Amino acid sequence: MKAHYYPSTDSEDVEQAPCGSWLGEGSSLTGFWGNVTCRRCFKSKGKITSAAEADEDFIVKQMGEMADFISAQESKRTTL
Ligand SMILES: [Zn+2]
Repeated sequence: MKAHYYPSTDSEDVEQAPCGSWLGEGSSLTGFWGNVTCRRCFKSKGKITSAAEADEDFIVKQMGEMADFISAQESKRTTL
C-alpha cells in the first residue's frame, strides 16, 4: 500500500498522483506529508508543493477578479 501526496480534498476521480504514479488498488492519497509512503512523491516534493502553491495563487487571483467583477456590477446597479 502506497500513500501518495495529494493536496486537494477532491480526490475521487483522480487516476494519477501528482508524482506521476498511476493510482491502483493498492494506492491511496493523503494531504499530509507525514502519511506519505511513496518515494516518488518525496523526490518531487518541492515540485508538488510549489505547484500546489501556484494553484492557490491562481485561486486567490481569480477570487480577487471575481470580487472586482461583483463590485463593478454593484456600482453599475447603484448608478442606475
Ligand atoms: Zn507518489
